Amino acid sequence: MSRYLLSVCKLCRREKEKLFLKGERCTSNCTLDRKRGKNGPGQHGVSKSKMSDYAKHLREKQKARRVYGLTEEQFSHYYEVAEKMKGSTGDNLLKLLELRLDNVVFRLGLASSKKMARQVVNHGNVLVNEKKIDVPRYQVQVGDVITVSEKYKTGIVIKKLIEKTTSNVPLWLSFDKNKVVGSVVSEPLAGEVSHPINSQLIVEYYSK
Ligand code: SF4
Repeated sequence: MSRYLLSVCKLCRREKEKLFLKGERCTSNCTLDRKRGKNGPGQHGVSKSKMSDYAKHLREKQKARRVYGLTEEQFSHYYEVAEKMKGSTGDNLLKLLELRLDNVVFRLGLASSKKMARQVVNHGNVLVNEKKIDVPRYQVQVGDVITVSEKYKTGIVIKKLIEKTTSNVPLWLSFDKNKVVGSVVSEPLAGEVSHPINSQLIVEYYSK
């Protein structure tokens, strides 16, 4: 399946919650905050009838997939890897998703959305331990140091982002605003992911 190219706001309406897929615009001009946007996509919106268990599991999986901007294949690959790891599959899945380089760039505040973070990485503007990494799916590890290229560091976009960044950086990351250096302090816990996701529902979806 290819990436979703239509209005991403439609995805939020489908999941009936803000998934914050558009960066700045999600806080200043969100369609879900306006009365008209509270229904689902389509003329009559999403059905208000009670969801079946299967639908609940499916929706949670779809929500997680959309939050991290992944295709069906990419997401199920993460699930397969999480299943083979020691410990809780749900927690492992969230950990793998959070430790993607594009997500870390977003959570450090070096990009305003995950989509922008992916572009910043793709364009070769991100370094891990002083080595350029242009693969958004790259998995960072505890102790890794994340920096950006001189060109990106001196741009107007990042200066504006950095002004707001420190208050939003999660506890498992640290960020030096003056040097524009981030690091991975610990592995993220299930409660520290970028969006509330019930990973148990996803495990149940794949266990059927
Ligand atoms: Fe979702 Fe952002 Fe669009 Fe609001 S503005 S519906 S949070 S993508």
